[in-house]
Amino acid sequence: MKITMAHGSGGRSTSQLIDEIFVRANSNPTLDMMEDSAVVSGGKRIAVTTDSFVVAPLFFKGGDIGRLSVCGTVNDLLMRGAIPKYITSAYIIEEGADTEILERIATSMAETAKEAGVNVIAGDTKVIEGNGGVYINTTGVGIVRDSVDIKSANCRVGDALILSGTLGDHHASILSERMDIKNNIKSDCAPLVDMVRNMMEAGVDIRAMRDVTRGGLGTVLNEFTKSSGCGFELYEDKIPMTAEVAAFAKILGLNIMHMGNEGKMIAVVAADDAEKAVDIIRSSRYGENAAVIGYVSDDKKVVMNTNLGGRRIITELYGEGLPRIC
Ligand code: MG
Repeated sequence: MKITMAHGSGGRSTSQLIDEIFVRANSNPTLDMMEDSAVVSGGKRIAVTTDSFVVAPLFFKGGDIGRLSVCGTVNDLLMRGAIPKYITSAYIIEEGADTEILERIATSMAETAKEAGVNVIAGDTKVIEGNGGVYINTTGVGIVRDSVDIKSANCRVGDALILSGTLGDHHASILSERMDIKNNIKSDCAPLVDMVRNMMEAGVDIRAMRDVTRGGLGTVLNEFTKSSGCGFELYEDKIPMTAEVAAFAKILGLNIMHMGNEGKMIAVVAADDAEKAVDIIRSSRYGENAAVIGYVSDDKKVVMNTNLGGRRIITELYGEGLPRIC
Protein backbone atom coordinates (compact mmCIF):
# COMPACT_ATOMS: atom_id res chain seq x y z
CA MET A 1 0.00 0.00 0.00
CA LYS A 2 1.19 3.51 -0.81
CA ILE A 3 1.13 6.30 1.75
CA THR A 4 -1.33 9.06 0.86
CA MET A 5 -1.94 12.45 2.43
CA ALA A 6 -4.89 10.84 4.25
CA HIS A 7 -2.37 8.88 6.34
CA GLY A 8 -1.29 12.22 7.77
CA SER A 9 -4.77 13.53 8.50
CA GLY A 10 -4.80 12.56 12.16
CA GLY A 11 -7.94 10.51 11.52
CA ARG A 12 -8.63 6.84 10.99
CA SER A 13 -5.94 6.26 8.33
CA THR A 14 -3.34 7.78 10.64
CA SER A 15 -4.24 5.56 13.56
CA GLN A 16 -4.32 2.53 11.28
CA LEU A 17 -0.82 3.34 10.02
CA ILE A 18 0.46 3.85 13.57
CA ASP A 19 -1.23 0.74 14.99
CA GLU A 20 -0.42 -1.63 12.15
CA ILE A 21 3.20 -0.65 11.59
CA PHE A 22 4.83 1.34 14.35
CA VAL A 23 3.05 0.17 17.50
CA ARG A 24 2.99 -3.42 16.30
CA ALA A 25 6.76 -3.38 15.72
CA ASN A 26 7.60 -1.73 19.04
CA SER A 27 4.80 -2.88 21.36
CA ASN A 28 5.49 -2.46 25.09
CA PRO A 29 3.24 -1.53 28.05
CA THR A 30 4.30 2.15 28.05
CA LEU A 31 3.84 2.70 24.32
CA ASP A 32 0.65 0.64 24.15
CA MET A 33 -1.09 3.05 26.57
CA MET A 34 -1.14 5.56 23.70
CA GLU A 35 -1.28 8.55 26.06
CA ASP A 36 0.04 12.02 25.22
CA SER A 37 3.38 11.38 26.88
CA ALA A 38 5.19 8.45 28.43
CA VAL A 39 5.66 8.39 32.20
CA VAL A 40 8.62 6.19 33.13
CA SER A 41 11.00 5.74 36.03
CA GLY A 42 14.38 7.42 35.78
CA GLY A 43 17.48 8.09 37.85
CA LYS A 44 19.02 10.99 39.68
CA ARG A 45 21.11 11.86 36.63
CA ILE A 46 19.90 11.26 33.11
CA ALA A 47 21.56 11.79 29.74
CA VAL A 48 19.40 13.05 26.85
CA THR A 49 20.27 13.30 23.17
CA THR A 50 18.38 13.74 19.92
CA ASP A 51 19.26 13.17 16.28
CA SER A 52 17.52 13.16 12.90
CA PHE A 53 18.23 10.56 10.24
CA VAL A 54 17.94 11.39 6.56
CA VAL A 55 20.21 8.71 5.07
CA ALA A 56 19.81 7.86 1.40
CA PRO A 57 19.40 5.10 0.36
CA LEU A 58 17.06 3.85 3.12
CA PHE A 59 18.53 0.34 2.91
CA PHE A 60 22.22 -0.44 2.51
CA LYS A 61 24.60 -3.33 3.13
CA GLY A 62 24.88 -3.78 6.88
CA GLY A 63 21.86 -1.70 7.88
CA ASP A 64 18.98 0.63 7.13
CA ILE A 65 17.57 3.92 8.40
CA GLY A 66 15.67 2.13 11.20
CA ARG A 67 18.75 0.44 12.67
CA LEU A 68 20.78 3.61 12.14
CA SER A 69 18.25 5.78 13.97
CA VAL A 70 18.59 3.63 17.09
CA CYS A 71 22.39 3.15 16.92
CA GLY A 72 23.18 6.83 16.41
CA THR A 73 21.18 7.93 19.44
CA VAL A 74 22.05 5.02 21.73
CA ASN A 75 25.76 5.45 20.98
CA ASP A 76 25.63 9.17 21.82
CA LEU A 77 24.18 8.28 25.25
CA LEU A 78 26.84 5.63 25.85
CA MET A 79 29.66 8.07 25.05
CA ARG A 80 28.85 9.97 28.26
CA GLY A 81 28.81 6.77 30.30
CA ALA A 82 25.01 6.58 30.32
CA ILE A 83 23.18 3.28 30.12
CA PRO A 84 20.52 3.77 27.41
CA LYS A 85 16.96 3.11 28.65
CA TYR A 86 14.39 4.85 26.48
CA ILE A 87 14.06 6.08 22.93
CA THR A 88 11.39 7.98 21.00
CA SER A 89 10.78 7.67 17.29
CA ALA A 90 9.26 10.38 15.08
CA TYR A 91 8.72 9.57 11.43
CA ILE A 92 8.31 12.11 8.66
CA ILE A 93 6.98 10.20 5.67
CA GLU A 94 6.56 11.53 2.18
CA GLU A 95 3.42 10.71 0.26
CA GLY A 96 3.99 7.69 -1.99
CA ALA A 97 6.15 5.76 0.48
CA ASP A 98 5.38 2.06 0.50
CA THR A 99 3.88 0.65 3.71
CA GLU A 100 5.92 -2.51 3.12
CA ILE A 101 9.09 -0.42 3.34
CA LEU A 102 7.83 1.30 6.50
CA GLU A 103 7.20 -2.10 8.02
CA ARG A 104 10.73 -3.26 7.26
CA ILE A 105 12.15 -0.07 8.77
CA ALA A 106 9.98 -0.28 11.89
CA THR A 107 10.86 -3.95 12.40
CA SER A 108 14.57 -3.25 12.02
CA MET A 109 14.26 -0.38 14.49
CA ALA A 110 12.50 -2.65 16.98
CA GLU A 111 15.14 -5.38 16.65
CA THR A 112 17.96 -2.89 17.14
CA ALA A 113 16.21 -1.33 20.16
CA LYS A 114 15.91 -4.78 21.67
CA GLU A 115 19.57 -5.49 21.03
CA ALA A 116 20.54 -2.18 22.64
CA GLY A 117 18.25 -2.72 25.64
CA VAL A 118 16.09 0.36 25.05
CA ASN A 119 12.30 0.64 24.96
CA VAL A 120 10.60 2.81 22.36
CA ILE A 121 8.28 4.75 24.66
CA ALA A 122 6.87 7.48 22.43
CA GLY A 123 6.44 8.14 18.76
CA ASP A 124 4.93 10.36 16.10
CA THR A 125 4.06 10.09 12.43
CA LYS A 126 3.65 12.96 9.99
CA VAL A 127 2.90 12.64 6.29
CA ILE A 128 3.97 15.40 3.91
CA GLU A 129 3.85 15.94 0.16
CA GLY A 130 6.80 14.46 -1.64
CA ASN A 131 8.18 11.46 -3.37
CA GLY A 132 8.22 8.48 -1.01
CA GLY A 133 11.06 9.61 1.26
CA VAL A 134 11.31 8.60 4.93
CA TYR A 135 13.05 10.55 7.70
CA ILE A 136 13.31 9.60 11.37
CA ASN A 137 14.08 11.59 14.48
CA THR A 138 14.96 9.74 17.67
CA THR A 139 15.50 11.09 21.17
CA GLY A 140 17.28 8.89 23.69
CA VAL A 141 17.35 8.88 27.49
CA GLY A 142 19.99 7.07 29.52
CA ILE A 143 20.81 6.72 33.21
CA VAL A 144 24.17 7.99 34.47
CA ARG A 145 25.57 6.68 37.75
CA ASP A 146 26.62 9.32 40.29
CA SER A 147 30.34 8.65 40.06
CA VAL A 148 30.50 8.72 36.25
CA ASP A 149 32.08 11.78 34.64
CA ILE A 150 33.14 11.08 31.06
CA LYS A 151 33.82 14.07 28.84
CA SER A 152 36.44 15.21 26.36
CA ALA A 153 37.70 17.97 28.69
CA ASN A 154 39.02 15.17 30.96
CA CYS A 155 41.80 14.06 28.53
CA ARG A 156 45.26 14.13 30.20
CA VAL A 157 48.72 14.10 28.61
CA GLY A 158 49.92 10.49 28.38
CA ASP A 159 46.43 8.91 28.19
CA ALA A 160 45.96 6.16 25.61
CA LEU A 161 43.72 6.49 22.54
CA ILE A 162 41.79 3.34 21.74
CA LEU A 163 39.86 2.91 18.50
CA SER A 164 37.21 0.18 18.77
CA GLY A 165 37.60 -1.10 15.19
CA THR A 166 38.06 -0.40 11.50
CA LEU A 167 37.52 3.13 10.12
CA GLY A 168 35.40 4.25 7.19
CA ASP A 169 33.05 1.28 6.74
CA HIS A 170 29.70 3.10 6.92
CA HIS A 171 30.87 5.97 4.74
CA ALA A 172 32.31 3.65 2.07
CA SER A 173 29.17 1.52 2.11
CA ILE A 174 26.78 4.47 1.58
CA LEU A 175 29.02 5.98 -1.08
CA SER A 176 29.21 2.63 -2.91
CA GLU A 177 25.40 2.39 -2.96
CA ARG A 178 25.12 5.98 -4.14
CA MET A 179 27.68 5.60 -6.93
CA ASP A 180 26.51 2.10 -7.83
CA ILE A 181 29.97 0.65 -7.19
CA LYS A 182 29.83 -3.09 -6.64
CA ASN A 183 31.87 -4.35 -3.67
CA ASN A 184 31.42 -6.21 -0.40
CA ILE A 185 31.82 -3.23 1.91
CA LYS A 186 29.21 -3.32 4.68
CA SER A 187 28.17 -0.50 7.01
CA ASP A 188 29.35 -1.06 10.59
CA CYS A 189 26.10 0.41 11.98
CA ALA A 190 25.83 -1.06 15.51
CA PRO A 191 24.93 -0.20 19.10
CA LEU A 192 28.07 -0.13 21.27
CA VAL A 193 26.32 -1.04 24.54
CA ASP A 194 28.31 -4.20 25.23
CA MET A 195 31.81 -2.71 25.01
CA VAL A 196 30.97 0.42 27.01
CA ARG A 197 29.13 -1.48 29.72
CA ASN A 198 31.94 -4.04 30.02
CA MET A 199 34.58 -1.32 30.36
CA MET A 200 32.58 0.52 33.01
CA GLU A 201 31.83 -2.66 34.97
CA ALA A 202 35.55 -3.55 34.97
CA GLY A 203 36.32 -0.10 36.40
CA VAL A 204 38.44 1.12 33.46
CA ASP A 205 39.49 4.74 34.04
CA ILE A 206 37.70 6.22 31.00
CA ARG A 207 38.34 9.94 30.48
CA ALA A 208 36.38 10.51 27.27
CA MET A 209 34.55 8.64 24.53
CA ARG A 210 33.07 9.73 21.21
CA ASP A 211 31.49 7.69 18.45
CA VAL A 212 33.28 8.27 15.15
CA THR A 213 30.45 9.49 12.91
CA ARG A 214 30.10 12.30 10.36
CA GLY A 215 33.39 14.18 9.92
CA GLY A 216 35.42 11.12 10.92
CA LEU A 217 38.12 10.59 13.53
CA GLY A 218 40.06 13.66 12.35
CA THR A 219 37.12 15.91 13.21
CA VAL A 220 36.45 14.19 16.57
CA LEU A 221 40.06 14.57 17.73
CA ASN A 222 40.24 18.21 16.61
CA GLU A 223 37.09 18.84 18.68
CA PHE A 224 38.84 17.16 21.62
CA THR A 225 41.85 19.50 21.26
CA LYS A 226 39.51 22.47 21.76
CA SER A 227 37.69 21.12 24.81
CA SER A 228 40.72 19.56 26.53
CA GLY A 229 43.62 21.81 25.47
CA CYS A 230 45.56 18.60 24.70
CA GLY A 231 46.92 17.22 21.43
CA PHE A 232 46.93 13.74 19.92
CA GLU A 233 49.76 11.65 18.43
CA LEU A 234 48.53 8.91 16.13
CA TYR A 235 50.37 6.07 14.38
CA GLU A 236 49.18 5.24 10.88
CA ASP A 237 50.30 1.60 11.09
CA LYS A 238 48.14 1.06 14.21
CA ILE A 239 44.86 2.31 12.72
CA PRO A 240 42.53 -0.59 11.94
CA MET A 241 40.89 -0.61 8.53
CA THR A 242 39.83 -3.31 6.12
CA ALA A 243 41.84 -3.74 2.92
CA GLU A 244 38.65 -3.11 0.93
CA VAL A 245 37.86 0.22 2.58
CA ALA A 246 41.51 1.30 2.34
CA ALA A 247 41.53 0.54 -1.41
CA PHE A 248 38.15 2.22 -1.89
CA ALA A 249 39.36 5.40 -0.14
CA LYS A 250 42.57 5.44 -2.18
CA ILE A 251 40.80 5.07 -5.53
CA LEU A 252 38.32 7.86 -4.73
CA GLY A 253 40.92 10.09 -3.10
CA LEU A 254 39.13 10.08 0.29
CA ASN A 255 40.95 10.66 3.58
CA ILE A 256 40.12 7.78 5.92
CA MET A 257 40.46 10.22 8.84
CA HIS A 258 37.42 12.12 7.57
CA MET A 259 35.22 9.12 6.76
CA GLY A 260 32.25 8.39 9.01
CA ASN A 261 31.36 5.22 10.87
CA GLU A 262 28.19 4.29 12.74
CA GLY A 263 29.51 1.55 15.02
CA LYS A 264 32.96 2.67 16.14
CA MET A 265 34.19 4.78 19.01
CA ILE A 266 37.36 6.40 20.16
CA ALA A 267 38.04 6.02 23.89
CA VAL A 268 40.61 7.99 25.85
CA VAL A 269 41.67 5.98 28.90
CA ALA A 270 44.35 6.32 31.56
CA ALA A 271 47.61 4.84 30.19
CA ASP A 272 47.76 2.21 32.98
CA ASP A 273 44.37 0.87 31.92
CA ALA A 274 45.03 0.81 28.16
CA GLU A 275 45.85 -2.89 27.83
CA LYS A 276 42.93 -3.95 30.00
CA ALA A 277 40.54 -1.71 28.03
CA VAL A 278 41.67 -3.07 24.64
CA ASP A 279 41.23 -6.65 25.90
CA ILE A 280 37.71 -5.84 27.13
CA ILE A 281 36.67 -4.11 23.89
CA ARG A 282 38.14 -6.94 21.78
CA SER A 283 36.11 -9.52 23.64
CA SER A 284 32.92 -7.40 23.42
CA ARG A 285 30.43 -7.39 20.58
CA TYR A 286 31.63 -5.34 17.56
CA GLY A 287 35.05 -4.70 19.13
CA GLU A 288 37.23 -7.51 17.78
CA ASN A 289 39.58 -5.14 15.89
CA ALA A 290 40.14 -2.63 18.71
CA ALA A 291 43.65 -1.18 19.03
CA VAL A 292 45.65 1.50 20.82
CA ILE A 293 46.32 3.98 18.01
CA GLY A 294 48.17 6.74 19.85
CA TYR A 295 48.30 8.88 22.95
CA VAL A 296 47.40 12.30 24.29
CA SER A 297 50.16 14.89 23.87
CA ASP A 298 50.65 18.43 25.08
CA ASP A 299 50.97 20.31 21.77
CA LYS A 300 47.27 20.89 20.95
CA LYS A 301 47.53 19.41 17.45
CA VAL A 302 46.39 16.15 15.92
CA VAL A 303 49.49 14.60 14.35
CA MET A 304 49.71 11.41 12.29
CA ASN A 305 53.04 9.58 12.34
CA THR A 306 52.92 8.09 8.86
CA ASN A 307 54.11 4.71 7.61
CA LEU A 308 56.87 6.52 5.68
CA GLY A 309 58.23 8.11 8.84
CA GLY A 310 56.71 11.56 8.27
CA ARG A 311 54.53 13.67 10.55
CA ARG A 312 51.31 15.03 9.11
CA ILE A 313 48.84 17.40 10.77
CA ILE A 314 45.27 16.10 10.66
CA THR A 315 42.66 18.85 10.44
CA GLU A 316 38.95 18.64 11.00
CA LEU A 317 36.82 18.02 7.92
CA TYR A 318 35.99 21.27 6.21
CA GLY A 319 33.96 21.96 3.11
CA GLU A 320 31.54 19.38 1.96
CA GLY A 321 31.45 15.90 3.43
CA LEU A 322 29.23 13.19 2.05
CA PRO A 323 25.63 14.42 2.31
CA ARG A 324 22.93 12.20 3.83
CA ILE A 325 25.28 9.63 5.29
CA CYS A 326 23.15 9.40 8.46
MG1 MG B 1 28.27 11.28 18.61
